[in-house]
Amino acid sequence: MCGIVGYIGNREAYPILIKGLKRLEYRGYDSAGAALVNQNGELSVYKTKGKVSDLETFCQDKDISGCVGIAHTRWATHGEPSSLNAHPHYSESKNLAIIHNGIIENYADLKKKLISDGVHFRSDTDTEVIVQLIEYIQTKKNVDLLTAVRLALHQLIGAYAIALLDKREKNQIIAARKQSPLVIGIGDNEFFLGSDATPIIEYTDKVVYLDDDNVAVMRLGEELKVVNNMNHEMSPEVRTLDMNLGQIEKGGYPHFMLKEIFEQPECLENCMRGRVNVDANKVMLSAVIDYKKQLLNAKRIIIVACGTSWHAGLIGKQIIESFCRIPVEVEYASEFRYRNPVINSDDVIIAVSQSGETADTLAAVKLAKENGAFVFGICNAIGSSIPRATNTGSYIHVGPEIGVASTKAFTGQVT
Ligand code: GLU
Repeated sequence: MCGIVGYIGNREAYPILIKGLKRLEYRGYDSAGAALVNQNGELSVYKTKGKVSDLETFCQDKDISGCVGIAHTRWATHGEPSSLNAHPHYSESKNLAIIHNGIIENYADLKKKLISDGVHFRSDTDTEVIVQLIEYIQTKKNVDLLTAVRLALHQLIGAYAIALLDKREKNQIIAARKQSPLVIGIGDNEFFLGSDATPIIEYTDKVVYLDDDNVAVMRLGEELKVVNNMNHEMSPEVRTLDMNLGQIEKGGYPHFMLKEIFEQPECLENCMRGRVNVDANKVMLSAVIDYKKQLLNAKRIIIVACGTSWHAGLIGKQIIESFCRIPVEVEYASEFRYRNPVINSDDVIIAVSQSGETADTLAAVKLAKENGAFVFGICNAIGSSIPRATNTGSYIHVGPEIGVASTKAFTGQVT
């Protein structure tokens, strides 16, 4: 889950948004974008693959005026990292723009329904479904934006922190959350928004941590309004931040590796989200369900990986052999690819890689496929080369790993 920044007040929003995104860079991301409403009520979305500095270059000759805006750094979960899939996303009419952190588990069903009702999509993301659904409800039911947001959120399964602009309501930002953090900073007749306090702290120490299933309405000249999903008005607790900037960069840790070690409980929850049904005592991975026949046919499983992923493979061997009674070999991809290995068409190859770009593992995948084996990938980076080259697979969804020594990706792979 990556970064969210928002601003509404009397200052120019763009510099605050860019500075905020830079403060959130420590989280890692693959693309960045911003949406602004200018004085004339025009809503513009600017986004690009790459760094926040690339976004700044992109915006050099654009209209970046306006005192209301939202901005995002994305770590792709659905749809490859690209300018098209970067946030914000417009609704079909371009009246609305949304940014989102998290994953919408039932986005495919919702998207199918919306498409059959004539809605046109522009991206491959789960996020676009949210904004299209909000607009669909807004027009079909002829309700105000807050109601449409609440009704849309009722239909979502998954995790989200969102911020939304409507050009017809140019002095307003609506934000909501479920299982993804969102902080609202309260200034003097201005509001700040952040996926954590990092982008807010230099402007105000008065913050509200939004609760799950709550929707916040920030309007210029009005008090912060927070409602729950049944539209009951809540009285949000305003807290005083007790930190300084130095403490919150890299999440307060001196380096990324330590941050990533401590992130593991949250990462593993993200990894299991929507896949473990505790009540039914079931684990459901769609790739395993869809390719059950090929997997059950396996006479042998070969796990190919390098470095830390290879070590995760060793644990995989113990578990798969003890549960499935299928022999498992764990191979260094760099050895496997160069030694003319025996590969049969009833072998299943499991390729494990955090980045999905490990060159030796990718070469091993290609070799296995040439020899007719069925290849399953376990990767972290969405849309990377290995997931594209395999027959199917599962993402581990632990977020960007910046530390060179793998920590959270390892536990994600094992999970
Ligand atoms: N699931 C969304 C996407 O793939 C949001 C990812 C994020 O949290 O950055 O676009």
